[in-house]
Amino acid sequence: MSFNQPLGGNSMPRFGGIASMMRLPVVDSPVGLHAGFIGVPLDIGTSHRPGTRFGPRQIRAESALIRPYNMATGAAPFDALQVADLGDVAINTYNLQKSVELIEQHYRPVVQSGCIPLTLGGDHTIVLPILRAMAAKHGPVALVHVDAHADVNDDMFGERIAHGTPFRRAVEEGLLQCDKVWQIGLRGSGYAAEDFDWPRQQGFTVVQAHEVWYQSLAPLMQRVRAAIGNAPCYLSFDIDGIDPSFAGGTGTPEIGGLTVPQALEIIRGCRGLNLVGADLVEVSPPYDTTGNTALLGANLLYEMLCVLPGVKYR
Ligand code: MN
Ligand code: MN
Repeated sequence: MSFNQPLGGNSMPRFGGIASMMRLPVVDSPVGLHAGFIGVPLDIGTSHRPGTRFGPRQIRAESALIRPYNMATGAAPFDALQVADLGDVAINTYNLQKSVELIEQHYRPVVQSGCIPLTLGGDHTIVLPILRAMAAKHGPVALVHVDAHADVNDDMFGERIAHGTPFRRAVEEGLLQCDKVWQIGLRGSGYAAEDFDWPRQQGFTVVQAHEVWYQSLAPLMQRVRAAIGNAPCYLSFDIDGIDPSFAGGTGTPEIGGLTVPQALEIIRGCRGLNLVGADLVEVSPPYDTTGNTALLGANLLYEMLCVLPGVKYR
């Protein structure tokens, strides 16, 4: 069997060609794929600065420099997995509720086919319909959630669906194994002093950013792997979990965040988990004046690919 390969920089200049994720083939069907990149160009769930509708396109553009082999970990994802770019979900940008339905409908056959979706967001609203599709196949999933925010608001401006509510809805709908949910990087100011108590009351483990400043997160990830074991696990990575000095191109930045090496430790520390899907959300290109936020997002998605079950290491 021959596996799709990213188009090399010696076949077509890296700044040329169609800007698919990692210059992989763009395909319509998930059948036969081990993993597929999917864009969800949605920003109508955001509470502050918009622009994540442009996230998938910019992440793809910044992914043009990523080469197949991971020189730190030895991962060789394209030696053993069939991977492609599955394009974008045709969301309804005039209607958030309908968009959420469209996303779930889009993901259900992908997940049912056995293809692991790696999602380019999009604001964090999109994780709710994705988790619905996940649970339809796998039952409730474990969750590694990196974010500055807990995203467990009961409502926002009276709305039950928004980018700050998905994990509250996911708990209510039974989509999560709550004793296997880890929220990492939380910080900032709250509406109430108890804001992070609700997730803890559900059984989540909350690791605030200041608790891990200056530290390697490898030991934390050891605990995460021990707690989650072989449960089907989803990884949801909000780029605002990273400090705005590295990733300022996002809608709701919070100071004092995780570093890029810590982000890599988190994702690399997911190796060995039974990952069934992952996303990278909240990249907002209009606020990403250097392109660094999208560049980081693209590379973090590559790192997610590198820790999927079945990846060969050299
Ligand atoms: Mn979030
Ligand atoms: Mn956030």
